[in-house]
Amino acid sequence: MRLLADLHTHTIASGHAYSTFTENAQAAASRGLELIAITDHGPSIPQGAHAWYFWNLKAAPSVLDGVRVIKGCEANISDETENGIDLSDVVLEALDFVAVGFHPTTGFDQQDRVRNTEALLRAMANPFVDMVTHPGNEHEFPLDLEAVVAAACEHRVILELNDHSFAPSSARAGSGDRESEFAAAARDAGAPVAIGSDAHYALHVGRFDAAVAAAEALGITEDGLVNRNAASVIDFLLAKRERPRLDVGGTWVWPKVGTEAP
Ligand SMILES: [Zn+2]
Ligand SMILES: [Zn+2]
Repeated sequence: MRLLADLHTHTIASGHAYSTFTENAQAAASRGLELIAITDHGPSIPQGAHAWYFWNLKAAPSVLDGVRVIKGCEANISDETENGIDLSDVVLEALDFVAVGFHPTTGFDQQDRVRNTEALLRAMANPFVDMVTHPGNEHEFPLDLEAVVAAACEHRVILELNDHSFAPSSARAGSGDRESEFAAAARDAGAPVAIGSDAHYALHVGRFDAAVAAAEALGITEDGLVNRNAASVIDFLLAKRERPRLDVGGTWVWPKVGTEAP
């Protein structure tokens, strides 16, 4: 299969990634991708981007080198905020795409499956949340697979099949099998699935051979993946809710008249 969209890429704004917004878009163009999402880490991980970074993504172009660039985040599940996510709903609503996931040092390092699942289900019920990143990280952040898949169906939240989870060098090394279990269960239940590179350097953008091989081994085809091309991504997102800034050319519309920056 050939996938033309990558919904999970990081830039230097994540603090531990090494390419820029522009370099990621250029890399996507050179690989023939139609669309990428810029999904930098939320503020609760060390050197994660500040809320203002996400708020001001309007300043960056929506199309670069012919690649549609959607402005997103990989926010953290949080037990310290009102909405259970480390970015406010005001910021999430203004983004084109909202991914959430568990990461070390953000309050969930106890490997408590029940607590993790409750916190994630709460986030998935938030209408601004579009995708759960690397749900198969069983060793660090165990989850109740059936409950998460059911919530993904109910709220139309994508469960990611994360390419980096298959890499031996990954912090999540060894979680590929569990990642595949989530993808298979999601497919069987009719929940949306997407493959993401989780690139922390531009040359990884749009490269997801390991995750594609895992999907093919499960019998998942392009038609079963949200990120097959730009149109399939945008159709999915707009079916969920209005995206005030999902626009072309770097111009944008203020989400609500009178809204102040957080
Ligand atoms: Zn992540
Ligand atoms: Zn990531």
